[in-house]
Amino acid sequence: MSNYDQLISHYQTINHFNHAQAMLGWDAAANMPAGGNEARSNAMAELSVHVHRLSTQPQLSEWFNNAENETLTTEQTASLREMKRQWLQATLLPEELVQAQSKAGSKCEHAWRTQRQENDWTGFEKNWKEVVTLSREEAQIRSDILGLTPYDAMLDKFEPDTTTVSLDVLFSDVKTWLPELIEKALAKQQTESIIMPSGIYPTAAQKSLGLDIMKLLKFDFDHGRLDQSVHPFCGGVPSDVRITTRYDESDFVQALMGIVHETGHARYEQGLPKAFAGLPVGEARSMGIHESQSLFFEMQIGRSKDFITHLLRLSKDAFNAHKDPVFTEDNLYKLYTRVDKGFIRVDADELTYPAHVILRYEIERDLINGLIEHTDVPEVWDEKMKATLGISTKGNFKNGCMQDIHWTDGAFGYFPSYTLGAMYAAQYKATMTQTVDIDAAIKSGDLTPIFQWLSDNIWSQASLHTTDELIKRATGETLNAAHFKKHLEGRYL
Ligand SMILES: [Zn+2]
Repeated sequence: MSNYDQLISHYQTINHFNHAQAMLGWDAAANMPAGGNEARSNAMAELSVHVHRLSTQPQLSEWFNNAENETLTTEQTASLREMKRQWLQATLLPEELVQAQSKAGSKCEHAWRTQRQENDWTGFEKNWKEVVTLSREEAQIRSDILGLTPYDAMLDKFEPDTTTVSLDVLFSDVKTWLPELIEKALAKQQTESIIMPSGIYPTAAQKSLGLDIMKLLKFDFDHGRLDQSVHPFCGGVPSDVRITTRYDESDFVQALMGIVHETGHARYEQGLPKAFAGLPVGEARSMGIHESQSLFFEMQIGRSKDFITHLLRLSKDAFNAHKDPVFTEDNLYKLYTRVDKGFIRVDADELTYPAHVILRYEIERDLINGLIEHTDVPEVWDEKMKATLGISTKGNFKNGCMQDIHWTDGAFGYFPSYTLGAMYAAQYKATMTQTVDIDAAIKSGDLTPIFQWLSDNIWSQASLHTTDELIKRATGETLNAAHFKKHLEGRYL
């Protein structure tokens, strides 16, 4: 057996344990009674330790060294690169640091749940200080090994090969036109009237409507299912993808689009190449590319006028609402393209969302690189919020820097993925338009040509290429914010 084949077999074994872990995690979120929590947590922690041991086994380094001298095809070379990448990620941090981070993160997050409600920055800051210190330590170790700046080394966990240099170019471009675009969209919106949903929309009807939408989006029900959970997610494994949503009986709008979003994540997973199943090279390219699929489904397909026509027809039937004035094409489209300058990122609309992300990116970049201290964050947050959205968070910590869960346990470097995803999605659309009649496909209800393009260019390519290469092969150029701007102007002006 060659060393390359030894590695393949080893990573398949790791994958089997990860499969079990994913299903236990899905079950814990979607099915498990509360009493099962302690034993389940123990079982999952034990599995994690086992997977970590397999991922850091000393023999791996020898296999990697030898495999590099073996004759490999282009695809096998990519496969080796991705196995090595996962191995490096698993081995580069000392175990004591990982444990200290886990402890500090849990403590900070646990206390944050009540501190946030009480707007208690002073209490939060004491725990968060330790989280930030440990994250900086992590960033420094990654930086030394990977030869990147500390923040770029954190970005690398989520967006391999994406750097501050490229993000600064993209995001500073967005900042030159976004605030004005938001103001113009709001001014236009003020002249229009909208009818908000006010009825009761039963969970059972919302669920059956969600399933209809998933069928329209060609979700493969032989390899996945829809369930309910407090925080919606897409989990499971490519051969058995589990998506979840939550229902609010007074408002169907969010849950429905949430299903469209998660279906985008799911179809990427279901469309990953079978030839590389269970191997790192067969996995999704990055968090940003994953988000580009969910956001292509949600923003480019889901909120288009032609798709809203389908939503209208199906939801009128599901809620028996043929006479309800909420359910007109025009009103439903307005509901799905409403702009609102708010404090909260997770509630933000398509147009204001990038402002929230860029603000977090700039703060976490400077915090990890040591240019600002954690105690500076509320003030910097307030300044940036005023500059982009014109609203102040002075003294309002719970709706300012304490609103997200990400930073409480040290997930620095993840926020840019959201806006990168939205930008990639707009760029796919611009390219796809050259060969596919997107509007006609959506209107006809047979979206196959759109999915075929995504499959050929993104899903089937998994992690065979770097992100830049993947985007260049698909669209002829690397990421270009101009497509995103054009998309937003087209929809909101
Ligand atoms: Zn998503």
